[in-house]
Amino acid sequence: MTVQEIFETMDYGTAPESAAEAMAWLDKHDRVFGHFIGGVAVSGAAQFATKNPANGQELAQIAQGSAADVDAAVAAARKAFGPWSKLSGHKRARYLYALARLLQKHSRLFAVLETLDNGKPIRESRDIDIPLVQRHFYYHAGMAQLMEAELPDAAPLGVCGQIIPWNFPLLMLAWKVAPALAMGNTVVLKPAEYTSLTALLFAQICAEAGLPEGVVNIVTGDGATGAAIVDHPGIDKIAFTGSTEVGRKIREATAGSGKALTLELGGKSPYIVFEDADLDSAVEGLVDAIWFNQGQVCCAGSRLIVQEGIADAFYAKLKTRMANLRAGDPLDKSIDIGAIVDPVQLKTITDMVDANTDGETHHAPIPLPDQGCFYPPTLITGLSTASHLMQEEIFGPVLAATTFRTPAEAVQIANQTRYGLAASVWSENINLALDMAPKLVSGIVWVNATNLFDAAAGFGGVRESGFGREGGWEGLRAYTKPKATPKPLAQITGYSADAPSPADPLDRTAKMYVGGKQARPDSGYSRPVVSPKGKLLGHVGQGSRKDLRNAVEAAAKARSWAKTTGHLRAQILYYIAENLSARVDAFAKRLSDMTGKSGVAEVDASISRLFSYAAWADKYDGAAKGVPLRGLALAINEPVGLIGALAPDDVPLLGAVSLIGPALAMGNPIVLAPSEPFPLAATDLYQVLETSDVPAGVVNIVTGSHAELAPTLASHLELDAVWSFSSTDLSGVIEAQTAGNLKRSWVNNGKARDWMSTDGEGRAFLQAATEVKTVWVPYGE
Ligand code: NDP
Repeated sequence: MTVQEIFETMDYGTAPESAAEAMAWLDKHDRVFGHFIGGVAVSGAAQFATKNPANGQELAQIAQGSAADVDAAVAAARKAFGPWSKLSGHKRARYLYALARLLQKHSRLFAVLETLDNGKPIRESRDIDIPLVQRHFYYHAGMAQLMEAELPDAAPLGVCGQIIPWNFPLLMLAWKVAPALAMGNTVVLKPAEYTSLTALLFAQICAEAGLPEGVVNIVTGDGATGAAIVDHPGIDKIAFTGSTEVGRKIREATAGSGKALTLELGGKSPYIVFEDADLDSAVEGLVDAIWFNQGQVCCAGSRLIVQEGIADAFYAKLKTRMANLRAGDPLDKSIDIGAIVDPVQLKTITDMVDANTDGETHHAPIPLPDQGCFYPPTLITGLSTASHLMQEEIFGPVLAATTFRTPAEAVQIANQTRYGLAASVWSENINLALDMAPKLVSGIVWVNATNLFDAAAGFGGVRESGFGREGGWEGLRAYTKPKATPKPLAQITGYSADAPSPADPLDRTAKMYVGGKQARPDSGYSRPVVSPKGKLLGHVGQGSRKDLRNAVEAAAKARSWAKTTGHLRAQILYYIAENLSARVDAFAKRLSDMTGKSGVAEVDASISRLFSYAAWADKYDGAAKGVPLRGLALAINEPVGLIGALAPDDVPLLGAVSLIGPALAMGNPIVLAPSEPFPLAATDLYQVLETSDVPAGVVNIVTGSHAELAPTLASHLELDAVWSFSSTDLSGVIEAQTAGNLKRSWVNNGKARDWMSTDGEGRAFLQAATEVKTVWVPYGE
């Protein structure tokens, strides 16, 4: 080859990495692996093969975890939990630090093993996966160290069941294990069936680090093993990463069990290119966005949305780049595209693309190895937003493309998905790019970048991409609970009388409050509200599904509340407090009429609570994260969306205010079902809301039976979150019904809360009312 040819083709030879050490490690174990339970290897009754997807060769036999194996692992984790959680943060930090050091020491072995088992290019496992794994353990060693001082009210959850996928096997393990251990939890982790090897090498590292037995347990196996973990009564929390379909099943399976749950699910992330973007950078970004790890990335930029005027030029550049990608042996350091994880996944990708008849399909004209699971980088242009491939996660190296004209249209197309994991925006106009960031419905936005990750920055989605964050301070919430043990909550019933003595000859049927207007119940039914002494206090409407639907529709029309400033929201909350202050006596009387107890303290507490949320409205700040990047990773607290809430029954006014307050402060319209036995304080609140400049639809109140309203609230597809503090036991019903659109749920699990104290306000409520969006903005020439 001449020098000129070398310059023209920029071609280079192969640079194979040796697999010898990894093979020797497999041989040392006779290529048969058991589980890691209670600090020792435990052989399984049955085995399955794990193969190298690049050549189909078997690497080892892996144990198929049974329910008994899961039981043993949970017992070991439970036994270890007491001593581990009681260790000082510093002692736990030392273990995490030791794990980080050992991961660093064995980094090449981990990288090669990962590539052999998963098929990803060694360049990626060596330079991205394994360094991020180490970073995660270092970062969380720090969190263990700081826990006592910085999170004094936080306690570990207990035993965590962790189920991870095959696309980033060791990295997903690190994302789950490191924060769990840092906060004093113990774990039972199941790696994906296709990719268990690095988890088993990690088990060896745990033993080398002298980690106490049972703190980390690894049970290998298939989906049935995962389901056994999910269903195990000895587990306190499930952390899952994988498909939305399985995530939904897990939501249903854990409903009402009291298990904490975080789900990191699928995505169909938009990659938006404006006409003023640096097109060459945007093309290079796409190589990372959709061909990194063969597109088997939950946050892959798999939907290209490009401005119409430059679309043809951009596609042409992209096709040229595609023709220069190199596919081949994943252990070759000079390849870009490795193997798809398994023939099953290869078939899924192939079938999805073959079945598509929309647009134009372009496969990169590059040679693929003769054997193994390889799929060419693919671009499909001319798709409509409704096209199947624009909507469904392919989880392969396939980019679906469409065009837009204006920024507003780009936002509309980008958000036209049931997912909401990540988005990339490319424009040299930073004002435009930053204006897009809050408008995109996703957990992460990368500006002129893609696939940036770090332990200090939260990662996770909205909508059907799941809930919860991994990384950063926000990620620790998923592994802690308040230290105080809550008391059980008994059901509170109202009073009744066979023949209540009428209070007033006038009709006193309290109306519902929907879209800023008083509304009669659609059912036409109402029920009497009676004092403890049998006096009729009035009637209240029996809200139905139709009333709730109307209320949600009204709330949806008020979504622009999210765009108001914190200052304005504070003013309105203060105004509500002021108007409530003017009616203290009337509200106190109403409360004592209904409950038989003095209502003065509750009204005072309600006014104070409104002041608290008025104060918070412009103070619940985000953060600039300490990521190792020339640039910013901003954690922004965004409103969670539309909230449906069942108010506590015991404090009729304070309960309503305690939920309306944080919802409004953070920019969320709310549909509230007030105290079921004592609804009249909340219905009296309309008059206060009406005189306090609360825009129509921002607060909607539907009275009625919590048990009847809960399923409709929880299953309503327009609502983004549902909260329940009802004394009726509805936690299970609500959690199960949220599986439809995977909305966030916050339920009391039958536990009481002292609403009169600071337990009834503050950060827990603000966190439930917000989502953390991480916006990455690299800078430099
Ligand atoms: P799954 O969601 O099935 O697998 C993720 C993990 O869950 C694996 O460990 C799996 O075990 C386990 N699992 C499977 N079924 C259950 C169950 N009922 N209860 C508990 N755990 C279970 O994803 P797949 O690996 O099957 O991939 C299917 C599709 O999911 C892909 O094509 C892709 O679209 C998407 N996916 C998304 C990921 C993401 O990060 N968002 C990651 C991986 C896949 P096992 O491996 O043994 O099946």
